[in-house]
Amino acid sequence: MENSKQMRTWLDDLKLDHPLVIAGPCSAETEEQVLGIARSLKDTDVNYYRAGIWKPRTRPGNFEGVGALGLKWLQKVKAETGMKTATEVANRAHVELALEHDIDLLWIGARSTVSPFIIQEIADALKGTDKIVLVKNPVNPDLALWLGAVERLATADIKNLGVIHRGFSTYEKTKYRNIPEWQMAIDLQTKFPDLPIINDPSHITGNREMIFDVSQTALDLNFDGLMIETHHDPDNAWSDAAQQVTPAKLVQIMKDLKIRKEGNSEAEYNAKLNNLRANIDILDNQLIETLGKRMKTSDAIGELKKEKNVAVLQSTRWNEILGAMILEGESKGLSEEFVLRMFKAIHQESIRHQEKIVNA
Ligand code: PEP
Ligand code: MN
Repeated sequence: MENSKQMRTWLDDLKLDHPLVIAGPCSAETEEQVLGIARSLKDTDVNYYRAGIWKPRTRPGNFEGVGALGLKWLQKVKAETGMKTATEVANRAHVELALEHDIDLLWIGARSTVSPFIIQEIADALKGTDKIVLVKNPVNPDLALWLGAVERLATADIKNLGVIHRGFSTYEKTKYRNIPEWQMAIDLQTKFPDLPIINDPSHITGNREMIFDVSQTALDLNFDGLMIETHHDPDNAWSDAAQQVTPAKLVQIMKDLKIRKEGNSEAEYNAKLNNLRANIDILDNQLIETLGKRMKTSDAIGELKKEKNVAVLQSTRWNEILGAMILEGESKGLSEEFVLRMFKAIHQESIRHQEKIVNA
């Protein structure tokens, strides 16, 4: 992908003075719904109107989309509001129908990106197209798989490319529907600084209350745009009800987001500083998360010690940990004094936890 500069021509040509915004419902439900939401988004900063026509559902029995009929509704949206249109394609038939209906931007969903066979089929069907094609990250955090999909499209002579970061699934329950693993998006930007990257806070959070914060983090990390699911009656949406926002809320979010532009040196300094600070915030949150997990494990040891009536403090084990961590710390440029102080504090907290359990 040497030509990633060329990949962002489509974005530069839009000459936007704000991040790119793709918005619209998770699913097209009815003609009235599709047109109604579009009318509320007309004359806002929304650049592309999205609606899922074919819905890849993790479990069967959920709403699987209205199918090709919905493409006609998107055409009406374009004719009536002037907004460009976007939908997800997941196989050759979808691509052919979407092209026939002159959909302007096609995205590949997270469940498709995991399959090189399906990506190849889509790439072959799209060969040489001048439509914009955005690749969502695969459901699993695998940068090579994500980039591999972009490469297959680039090889099929598709020039207007980009990626969408929508987070990754975990077995563990977290506050996110799909954890962001921001580091992976940062690594991707470092490798391909010109490849447009759009954040999808809707599928990351799964919860409309968190959309603003995730969007702001994305902009602080220099993302090029946002894809936000928007519905006139979110609670009664046929899919992804909890994460959709109303058009009015979307407009408010876009107004409140702080956009850090590069340009003069002061602005550039601020952008860089904000970028680094956003990185630090992510790492600090990971530290707290890891420490929390460590204390939980320590609690489990406390339960065991209680059962066996063993003393909380086992100094040989503690000295072993300390020795190993000092060495490990040295290899990461951390001073012995710092590692000692930090682990003493961790150890103290751990003992406090275990004593509470043993003496309960
Ligand atoms: C969607 O955008 O509605 C969608 C199905 O997204 P994802 O592929 O990220 O799950
Ligand atoms: Mn959705």
